[in-house]
Amino acid sequence: MILIKDVSILPMTAPEDFIAKGYIIIDGARIVEISEGQAPDGNRFRQVINAGGMVAMPGLINTHTHAAMTLLRGYADDLPLMEWLQQKIWPMEEKLTAEDCYWGTMLAAAEMIKSGTTCFADMYFHMDQVAAAVEKSGLRACLCQGMIDGPNGEAAFTRSQQLFSDWHGQAQGRINVMLGPHAPHTCSPQYLKRVINLSEQLGIGIHIHIAETQGEYEDIFKQYGKSPVSHLQEVGLFARPVLAAHCVFLNDDDIGILAQHSVGVAHNPESNMKLASGIARVPEMLEAGITVGLGTDGASSNNNLDMIQELRSCSFLHKVNRKDPQLIPAYQALEMATVNGAHALRWEGIGTLKPGMLADIILVDFEKPHLYPRYQTEGLLAYSALASDVDTVLVNGKVLMQGRQLTTIDEKEVFRQVEQIVNRLISSI
Ligand SMILES: [Zn+2]
Repeated sequence: MILIKDVSILPMTAPEDFIAKGYIIIDGARIVEISEGQAPDGNRFRQVINAGGMVAMPGLINTHTHAAMTLLRGYADDLPLMEWLQQKIWPMEEKLTAEDCYWGTMLAAAEMIKSGTTCFADMYFHMDQVAAAVEKSGLRACLCQGMIDGPNGEAAFTRSQQLFSDWHGQAQGRINVMLGPHAPHTCSPQYLKRVINLSEQLGIGIHIHIAETQGEYEDIFKQYGKSPVSHLQEVGLFARPVLAAHCVFLNDDDIGILAQHSVGVAHNPESNMKLASGIARVPEMLEAGITVGLGTDGASSNNNLDMIQELRSCSFLHKVNRKDPQLIPAYQALEMATVNGAHALRWEGIGTLKPGMLADIILVDFEKPHLYPRYQTEGLLAYSALASDVDTVLVNGKVLMQGRQLTTIDEKEVFRQVEQIVNRLISSI
C-alpha cells in the first residue's frame, strides 16, 4: 500500500469536496481511502509520499492526440491544414517505421507524464508499437489504428482487429482499443458502415475527426447535401459509442444530434487556433449537456502535449470569443481535463479521486512564487500552474514520476533515439 500524506486534495467530485490537508491510501491499482486530517502511522505502508505543499488531483486526460507526431514537432509550422497535411506531414509520415513510432510515442509519454497527463486517446499507425510504448511507460491509453478509405483501407481493418486481439484490456488493464475511421471526408459511407459493424461485433467504441475545418464542412455538404454530423447520423455512426474530435463547425441541429446520442467530444483549442480552423461552439455544447473533454491533437499542430496549457487556452479562448469572462470558469476547465475526459472516453474508474477509483493521481508542487497567495486552489491550477509544477505522477497505483524524475522512461535514451530518427528522415527528403 502507498500513503500520500500532508496533501491538499482537489478530488474533482465537487468544488466543496476540496480537502485543505489530508491523506490518500492506495492499495494495488485503486484508491482505498481519502480523508481529511492526520495520516495513520506510516509503518504499514510499502511507500510513504510526503506531499507537504502539494495539491493532489486526478491525472489529466488528453482525449485526442497522435502521440508519435512528436517526431514532426516543429518540422512544418504556420501552414493551412490541408496544405500542411498533404505537402508536409503525410510525405514524412510515409517514411516512419514501426520503431520510429515506438520512440515518438516514448517521447510523447515522457512529455505527458512530466506535464501531468495520465491517460490519452491516440489515433495513428504502427499502433502495436504505440501500445508497447504505453505498456513500458506505465500510462493509460485508448488506442486506435487510423483508418482511411483507399489503397490501405482493407489493411486498416486487419490491423484494427489485430490491435484489438493483441492489446484490448492488456498492460494491467491500462489499454483500451477503439476503431479509428479518420473522418467523414476520408471514409465513404460504405466504409463507415463496415467500421460500425466491426465496432458492434467487437463491442468497442469509435474515435473519429468531425467537422474540423470549414472546407470539410462545405465538401461534405456538397457531396451529401448535409452537415458532417447529420451525414454521419444517417450513416448510423452514432448508434455506437463515439469519441468525436474537433466538432468545430456545428449548426444547432448538429449540437442536438450529438447530445441526443451521447457523443463524447474532444475539444482541441490550441490545435484549432494554430491551424486557424475556427472556434468550436463549446459553451453551446456544454449547455446542451454534451460531454466535452480536452485534447492537444498531435504535437506538430499545437506544438506540445501540455494539458495544463490546453485547459487555460480553452477557458481564455471562449471568454474572449464571446466577450464573456464568466464562460468556462476555472473549475469547469479542470473538469473538462479530468472527469469529462473520462466520460468522453467512457473509461470507468478514472477522472475523479475517491475510494474505489483507479489511482491515477498527480501531485502539483505549490511551493512556487506563481502559486502564492492561496485564495482559491482551482484558479491557481487552471490559470497559474505550469507543467513543470507537476512533481509526482501515479497511474494504476504505480509511481511514474517522483520529484520530477521519471521511473519508467530513460529520457536521455529517448532523446538519442529521436535525434537519430530525425537525422534519417531529414537526409531522405
Ligand atoms: Zn487529430
